[in-house]
Amino acid sequence: MNGRFLFMALLLSLAPVAAAQGKMAQLQPVQQTPVRVVTTVNFVTDLVQQVGGSRVRVTGLMGAGVDPHLYKASAGDVRKLLQAHLIFYAGLHLEGKMVELLERLPKAIAVTDAIPRGRLIQPAGGFQGQYAYDPHVWFDVSLWRLTIGQVRDALSKVDPAGTAYYQANAEAYSKRLAQLEAFIRREIARVPPQQRVLITAHDAFAYLGRAYGLEVRGLQGLSTVSEAGTRNVQELADFIVQRKIHAIFVESSVPRRPIEAVVAAVRARGWNVAIGGELFSDAAGSPGTPEGTYVGMMEHNIRTIVNGLLGRQL
Ligand SMILES: [Zn+2]
Repeated sequence: MNGRFLFMALLLSLAPVAAAQGKMAQLQPVQQTPVRVVTTVNFVTDLVQQVGGSRVRVTGLMGAGVDPHLYKASAGDVRKLLQAHLIFYAGLHLEGKMVELLERLPKAIAVTDAIPRGRLIQPAGGFQGQYAYDPHVWFDVSLWRLTIGQVRDALSKVDPAGTAYYQANAEAYSKRLAQLEAFIRREIARVPPQQRVLITAHDAFAYLGRAYGLEVRGLQGLSTVSEAGTRNVQELADFIVQRKIHAIFVESSVPRRPIEAVVAAVRARGWNVAIGGELFSDAAGSPGTPEGTYVGMMEHNIRTIVNGLLGRQL
């Protein structure tokens, strides 16, 4: 059976979109360990491993470097989802091409459902003109911490014998994230206030900026050769010189030419700006590397940003 057909057959066989709370309430014990869990993005995989420990076996669908906004479930993925005791995904339409499927799967829990909607960023005109909320909530550690309870509660429902174990793991991980947040605040405080500016091409960092006092500026529009694009380059160059900013940040997927145009325009004004290191945005690094976990990915990003803004390259 090909993937598309399987997908359609599956959608038709499932009930209309269940309310998120309803799904949690309807989870049933599986009387079996390890609990078979399937996850989407790799920092949700890490989250579930932290809370589930040795009582779960987690299969992540999206590895390092995978763009969750564009990822489509393969036939093999659908099979894994159907065989899972429990599924965790980020939600808020981060998994843009899998939303329909995930919302209809009764055992699929969006970890971000634990975050009060009032604490989410609602960009004017919607996120990418489509969704009410910016989905990149993991960049605000205090919001991401709220997802721990969601995972603990769902695992406890499916595996009640592990309730105390999940609770202990959840508490330990929550403490770890509190330490991470303290680290971030300490690091950002080293940058002079007027230089706390994150210039990047990806629209992923609004929560980081809001939570930790970084002004976030996009490089959007710079990829065009239009007059507006040229004007943006000049305006951004003026801004960088005025604020004495030492680094702007890129991701490997972003064309370098417009960024190099900004660097050249800044140099023409007698100031030097570097292209800072690469940031992890929508996926943590490879398993087994320090950046392969949520905590490691955040620490890497913060070190890269702070060193760049202080004019030191890693
Ligand atoms: Zn994104």
